Amino acid sequence: MLAAVLHEPQKLLIDELDAPQPQPGQVQIRVRAGGICGSDLSYYFKGKSGDFAVREPFVLGHEVAGEIAALGEGVSDLRVGQRVAVNPGLNCGTCRYCVKGMPNHCLNMRFMGSASTFPHMQGMFRQFIAVDARQCVAVPEGLDFAMASMAEPLAVALHALRLAGSLVGAKVLLVGCGPIGCILLAVARRAGAHHLVAVDLADKALQMAATLGADETVLANDQTRIDKWSQQRGTFDVVLEASGSPAGLDTALRAARAGGTVIQVGNLPAGHSPVPANLVMAKELRYQGSFRFTDEYAVAAEELGAHKIDLRPLMTHAFPLEEANRAFEVAHDRKLSMKVHLHFD
Ligand SMILES: [Zn+2]
Ligand SMILES: [Zn+2]
Repeated sequence: MLAAVLHEPQKLLIDELDAPQPQPGQVQIRVRAGGICGSDLSYYFKGKSGDFAVREPFVLGHEVAGEIAALGEGVSDLRVGQRVAVNPGLNCGTCRYCVKGMPNHCLNMRFMGSASTFPHMQGMFRQFIAVDARQCVAVPEGLDFAMASMAEPLAVALHALRLAGSLVGAKVLLVGCGPIGCILLAVARRAGAHHLVAVDLADKALQMAATLGADETVLANDQTRIDKWSQQRGTFDVVLEASGSPAGLDTALRAARAGGTVIQVGNLPAGHSPVPANLVMAKELRYQGSFRFTDEYAVAAEELGAHKIDLRPLMTHAFPLEEANRAFEVAHDRKLSMKVHLHFD
C-alpha cells in the first residue's frame, strides 16, 4: 500500500509499506478520504505540534473515513464494505481518567497521527489501516467520505461547546476562524447563541465565518474596535479561543465580560505564552481548556450522516495521495483554502 510519510519538514514521500492486517478485535479499513488538520500542518512545516516533536519517519493524518476491507477475529457488529468514520483515539478503559469518564486524558491513549508518544502512533494518510472495531462509527452509504472524515473536527467543536455551557441568548466571540473556528461557529449557532462575532487576521477566513453563521466579522488589526470590547469589564458572555496564538488568547481574556467564560481550544506554541493572566482573577473569568473529545465523536458522525449540520462550505480542496505535498502547501495558504482533503482511490 502507499502512504504519505513525513521524513523531514516539508518532505512527504509516498512510500510503499506493508498493509496492516487486522488483529483480533480489529478491522482493516481501506482509507478513502482524509482531512489535513492544523496539527498536521504544524508537523509538516515545523516538525512539531505544540509540545510534540517528530523524531522518526511519520505518517500524518487523524481525520479519515473509509470502508471496511476485512474483519479481525471476533468482530461481528461491522461488515466488509461498510462505510465508517474512524475515531483516531483508542483509550485503555481502565486507567484512572478512563474510569472517571475522561477518556481524552487516558494515560495510555493511542491517538493515531500524534507524536505525543515515542515510537509515534503512526497516522492514517495511507491506503489501509487496522484499528480497533470500537474506533469505527458506521455512516450512511450516501455520505461522502470527505464529509464523513469531518466527524473528527466536529467532535472537537462539540466537546468545546459542551464545556462552555449554555449559549442560549449569549453574546459569543470567536477568536480565529480556521476550520475548527468555523465549525465552532456553526455549532454555536445551532446551540442558540444570540450574537456571534468572529475575529481573524485574514479576510478570506472572515468571509467563511460569515457563511457559517457569524453575525459580525472583525479584522484582527482593527484595534479601535477590539479595544472597545474590553471596556466596562468586557463584552462577551463566552469567548472561544481557536487561533492558538498568544495574541488571540490576549484578545479573548480582555473581551470576556466579568464572570464570563473563555474556552481555549487553540493549541499554543510550545513553552510559555505571555498573556494578561491577572484578568482571570480580576474579572472572575471561568478559563476552561478543551482537549480533543470523548463520546462526541460518535455524535459528530451521526450529525453529519443525518445532515444536521452543513460543513460543505469549509471543504475547499481535494488532492490525490500522490499530490500530498501540494495539498499541504494549499492547506497552509489561508488566503486560498480552508479544509483540504486527500483522497486515496
Ligand atoms: Zn484534527
Ligand atoms: Zn485510560
